[in-house]
Parts: sequence; structure tokens; C-alpha cells
Amino acid sequence: MDFIDLHVHTTASDGTFSPSEIVDYALEKNLSVIAITDHDTVAAVSKAQSYASDKPIEIIPGIEFSCSYMEREVHILGYYIDCNNEELLRQLELFRDTRDNRNILMVEKFAEYNIPISLDEMGEMFPNAVITRAHFASYLVKKGYVKNIKEAFDRYVGDYAPCFITRRKIPVDKAIELIHSVGGVAVLAHPMRYKMGKEEIKKLVSTVTAYGIDGIEAIYSTYSLSDENVVRQLAKENHLLITGGSDFHGKNKTNIDLGDGTTGHSKIPADLLPALIERHLIYRP
Ligand code: AMP
Ligand code: MN
Ligand code: MN
Ligand code: MN
Repeated sequence: MDFIDLHVHTTASDGTFSPSEIVDYALEKNLSVIAITDHDTVAAVSKAQSYASDKPIEIIPGIEFSCSYMEREVHILGYYIDCNNEELLRQLELFRDTRDNRNILMVEKFAEYNIPISLDEMGEMFPNAVITRAHFASYLVKKGYVKNIKEAFDRYVGDYAPCFITRRKIPVDKAIELIHSVGGVAVLAHPMRYKMGKEEIKKLVSTVTAYGIDGIEAIYSTYSLSDENVVRQLAKENHLLITGGSDFHGKNKTNIDLGDGTTGHSKIPADLLPALIERHLIYRP
């Protein structure tokens, strides 16, 4: 059986493996295909592709967008996007600007808690990375303010913690549109992670289906088998393709491993790929 992983972060966003390290690790894990899906950047894609060019592995160009949906944040993955499209690159730059502005406000919040943070120093610590809350968390660990990443999120940067500041995000319908416009296949990421009730999830899936979403992430590292079955059922009801990925972040999420997640049943079979490719061919300009 051939296995793949369609949700992987690198050092271009908040993963801790560089593009070449992720390729080597995927080979070690016997994966035949991985998709690189960093937050708001495609910088790692071409690096991983050229490093992998003489190796028995394929790198799918991908992205993960944080989107707004009814006052909440949901994530949309894009696969087989054209990473050289100028409009896409311009949009990504705008999204990164909203992060930069938000990060400045978070630094001001930390100052109120007597924790001095230098964004310049963070930039040197994580060169060329899109700076996310995961970087703030590792900065706090490195500086000894907290013992580990979990404590950093619990005490400072988690969704309900005092130094978290939200930012303006792209509406979910616009993200789907943007992905399609650059030949990509749009997939709702990890629907069971949004802390929504059953009816809310159903509504989310039917809404994004109406917006033209192509697929839904059914196999995911932290899902129980029953979560997976709920998503598979939603996919059936809404005629969506299914994808699977670990959401590997290296040392930033130590409980998640590339290709097989945490729960032991989240290996992702390569036979999910043909439907994804077929869909991409529809959107390809
Ligand atoms: P941001 O997009 O800057 O708001 O940062 C969100 C990132 O922080 C996510 O992509 C996750 O990788 C990470 N993250 C969020 N919550 C946690 C958590 N409780 N523990 C570890 N990492 C987290
Ligand atoms: Mn992340
Ligand atoms: Mn996500
Ligand atoms: Mn992710």
C-alpha cells in the first residue's frame, strides 16, 4: 500500500523542518507524495520540489488559509495551485501584512505582562518564516518564560489567552475563489477541530459547498474513528472529495508525526489522489 500526507508545514511558516528536511523525512517514512501547505506562503514549495526532483517522491504545491466564517476562524487548503501566479503572490503578501500588524500589537500586549519581545530578534531566530503564534510560543520557551509550547499557548497566546490578538482574515468564499482562480482545488481543513456542534458543522459544510468547495479533510491526525466517519458521511451527502493529512509541524506539535498522526489509524492512502488531480484539471487555466 502506498501512503501520502496532504497537510504539512515547513520552516516557511510554523513547522520546524526545512523544505529539504521534510523531503528526507517523508522518504524515511516511505511516503510517495506530500503536499506542502504552509500558512500564507508558498516559499517552501519550489525549494522542496527542486530538492526532491531526483528522489522517489512528489511534492504537491499547497497552501493553508485562515479564513473568516460567521465570526469564527476556519481553514481552507488549496492544492495544485500555481505558485508563480502574480495575483496569488500579491494576495499572500497582503495576508502576511495583516499578520505583521497583528504581531506588533501582540508585542505591545506582552510588554504589559513585562515580557519584552523583539520582532527583529524573532526574525533572526526564524529567518524567512511567516511569523505565527507558534513562533511567539517557541520564543517564550527559548527565553525561559515558559517550560514548553503548551504552557505558552495556555498562559499567553492560545485563543482565549491574554496576549492573543486576532487579525482580519479572508472570508471563506473569497479564499475558495482565489484558490480556483490559480488552478487549485479547495478543501475544508479539519472540520472536526472547530469546536462546533453537529448541526453547526453540517451548516458549515453545506455553506462552503454552496461556495464551490471541492473537498473536505476526512483523515486527520487528531481525529477519532468516529470523527472520521462523520466527515466521510458529510462528504457523501455534499458530493465532496476527501483528503487526508497529518498537519505535521515538527517540534511545534510534538504529538503529531508525518504521515501517521497521533491516533494510529490516520495513515493516508494514495488512492485519494486521482480524484484530486481530476478536479485540478478542471480548474487548470
Ligand atoms: P496564528 O495563525 O498566528 O494565529 O497561529 C496559529 C498557529 O498556532 C496554528 O497554525 C497552530 O500551528 C498553532 N497553534 C494554535 N493553537 C495551538 C496550541 N494550543 N498548541 C500548539 N500550537 C498551536
Ligand atoms: Mn500552524
Ligand atoms: Mn489549520
Ligand atoms: Mn495546518
